[in-house]
Amino acid sequence: MATAVANLPALVRHNSFLSRVRSMLAPADLAMDLGTANTLIYLSGFGIVVNEPSMVAIEEASGTPLAVGSEAKRMFGKTSQAIRCVRPMKDGVIADFAISTVMIKHMLARVYSGWALRRPRIVIGVPPEITQVEKRAVIDAALASGCGKVLLVEEPMAAALGLELPINKAVGNVVVDVGGGTTDVAVICMNSTIYSHSIRVAGDEMDEAIQRAVQRSFGVLIGIFEAERIKLLAGSAVPFGQPRSVSAFGRDLATGRPRQIEISDEFIRGSLEDPISAIVASISTALEQTGPEIAHDIAARGIYLAGGGSLLKGLSLRLERETGIRFHRAHDPLSCVVRGVGKILEDMNGLRTLCIAQ
Ligand code: ADP
Ligand code: MG
Repeated sequence: MATAVANLPALVRHNSFLSRVRSMLAPADLAMDLGTANTLIYLSGFGIVVNEPSMVAIEEASGTPLAVGSEAKRMFGKTSQAIRCVRPMKDGVIADFAISTVMIKHMLARVYSGWALRRPRIVIGVPPEITQVEKRAVIDAALASGCGKVLLVEEPMAAALGLELPINKAVGNVVVDVGGGTTDVAVICMNSTIYSHSIRVAGDEMDEAIQRAVQRSFGVLIGIFEAERIKLLAGSAVPFGQPRSVSAFGRDLATGRPRQIEISDEFIRGSLEDPISAIVASISTALEQTGPEIAHDIAARGIYLAGGGSLLKGLSLRLERETGIRFHRAHDPLSCVVRGVGKILEDMNGLRTLCIAQ
């Protein structure tokens, strides 16, 4: 038996006896964006109820999970060898089945507790190029976490729904999702994906590029989340107005001592050049693969951006300059996919056919 709704924000929490009975008889269904960097859960009829980093802190000896989500991310790099902080998703797919299940279970427990007569149904966003084995791993992890029925939808399709694009019409909708592990480019037309391509370059690779450049130029090793912090504070894809700099902390590789350095926005931009060029190249490849009719739609309507990596300052401007095509970023790039999956959940009769065969 599955568990009933609990632990929701005060606004959506139903404490009355009747609503508790109702949720035990028919628990709300769920939508999930199981991302490499972040996991989001949408609860039918409520909205987004979980938004956490995809990370688990595990006690090495016993395998006991000590923390999940933001708490585990805060521990990263600060624990002894006895504790391991793991990201169970890699490049959009499950890399560690047992730890993914722990993570999903834990995040679902924030939404469900107690008992219900029916296990909740869940729709999960997955990368378009997922293999049969990888699909099975996602389904099994959700089933092992207490879900009753699992449906999968391709993430670019979900992003297109979140972006409210006319996916059922005879027009080419191009979606570029710059996530943590991968950048996915997809062309969607008449409710199906007619082209998709994924590269393993996105937000994480940007952080690693900054980390490498700082090590090379300053002889200082900074943590990967320190590199991400620098990217969020002063990273950009094109120069903007006044130059600025940001302080970073790391370990001087020559002396072994902690050292503070000042990094300019120009330096960060330079270090992001390779990942940004790779993203531009994957979009150019997609454009080369499309037929003339779709190319016409793209020229007229532009390309739509989703995923947290698309929040990099100036990225859409840079992409416009390099491709000559207009780019429109989702107003909520980090939650666009889960809201799209949520739309399927809210209109199962109309949109269920968008789910992929298992
Ligand atoms: P995933 O779907 O793979 O979990 P997300 O869509 O959640 O990925 O995006 C996570 C990525 O977005 C991370 O690499 C994060 O650093 C990056 N990101 C989030 N906000 C910003 C921002 N303001 N500027 C640049 N990158 C950002
Ligand atoms: Mg994603």
